[in-house]
Amino acid sequence: MSITDTGKVTTCAADPNARYVAGDVSKQSLKEVWKGDLKRLRDLHREEKWKLLPYPCDKCEDWKVSYKDELVYAKKLNNIIGKAKRAVRGVKVK
Ligand code: SF4
Repeated sequence: MSITDTGKVTTCAADPNARYVAGDVSKQSLKEVWKGDLKRLRDLHREEKWKLLPYPCDKCEDWKVSYKDELVYAKKLNNIIGKAKRAVRGVKVK
């Protein structure tokens, strides 16, 4: 989340003009905002219901990677890093 200078809470720094306002900390506590509309939006992200998200999340590609995809990517990255480290140490790399 991001908070503007007037207290509007947006979903992301990618919305500097606060086109979508999830709450207002000049009228609510941050906890209320976090557990209110922002929770609903976090749930939509977690459930990968991208089409139900408001601007700017509806256009965002950053989080359209599932946790499973991230694990596969992390494993591949670890293999690459391991090979690079062995190469630096002079160990023969396949
Ligand atoms: S989905 Fe994209 S626009 Fe939305 S909060 Fe995440 S990074 Fe920001």
